[in-house]
Amino acid sequence: MDDLELINLSKRANVAAASGDISGAIRMYKEVLAQQPDNESVLMHLAALIDDPKEKKSYVQRVLKINPYNEDAKTMLAGLEGRPAQKAEEADPEPVEALHCYYHPDRETTLRCNKCGRPICTECAIRTPVGYRCPDCVREQQDKFYTATTSDIIKGAVVAFVGGLLVGLATLLTIMFLGRFLFFGFLAAFFIGPALGGAVAEAVRRAMGKRHARHFPIIGDIVFLIGILLLLIPFVLFGDLISLGMAALLVIMALSTFYARLKF
Ligand SMILES: [Zn+2]
Ligand SMILES: [Zn+2]
Repeated sequence: MDDLELINLSKRANVAAASGDISGAIRMYKEVLAQQPDNESVLMHLAALIDDPKEKKSYVQRVLKINPYNEDAKTMLAGLEGRPAQKAEEADPEPVEALHCYYHPDRETTLRCNKCGRPICTECAIRTPVGYRCPDCVREQQDKFYTATTSDIIKGAVVAFVGGLLVGLATLLTIMFLGRFLFFGFLAAFFIGPALGGAVAEAVRRAMGKRHARHFPIIGDIVFLIGILLLLIPFVLFGDLISLGMAALLVIMALSTFYARLKF
C-alpha cells in the first residue's frame, strides 16, 4: 500500500468512526498502523476508540514515546492510571492555548519537535526514524555527522582529481585495446567503470580520514569528472561513435559508483 492509499484508508476510518461503525474504524486504523507503526494520529484514534483499558493504555504509551508533548495522550494516560491530569487550566472552558509554529508564527499547529519540544507546522516538521523533528534539531544531528575540515575536503578533492586523470587514462587504454571488439569492449567498460569509480572513492574516503562533508559526494564527483574529461577531450573530438559510447558507459558507471560509495 502506498502513502496515498494509507491516507485514504485513514480518512475512511475517520468517517466510519464518526458514523458509529467503531469496529470497522478500528480494523482500518490497525491496517494503517501495520504499515506506519509510528503514525501518532492513528495511534490516538485507536486509543480513543478501543474499550479494553490495557490495550488502550498500550496505544497511549506508544503515542507518548513518539511525542512526549502530546497533551491529550498525557491526560488520557493519567485517566487510565487513575491520577488527576496534571493540567491546571482544566476548568477553563477556553481550549488549551493554541501553539504556533516556531518558524511560521502565523500558523497554528498541534505538532511539536520530539527533541526540543518547539511547536512546528506540518511543513516544517521533518519525519525521521525517531519521530517528527524541527529543522534545527535535524541540522544539529547532521552536524555531528559532517565533521570533515576544509583541509580534509581539499585532500579529498585532490585525490578525486588525480583519480579522474587515471580513470581517463584507463578509459583511453580500454578503447585503444578493446574498441574494435564491440561486445568485449562494452563488457569491459561495464566492469571497469564501477571498479575504478569504487577504488577512487575509497582512496578519497581515506584521504579525508573517513570524515564526511555535507555536499562532498557531489562536489567530489564533479572534480573527478573534470579529471577524466581533461584526458578524454582530444579523444572526444576525434573518436568514432562506438568508442565514444564505450567511453561514456565506462565514465558514467565510474561516476555513479563513486557517488554512491561516498554517499553511504
Ligand atoms: Zn512552519
Ligand atoms: Zn527541535
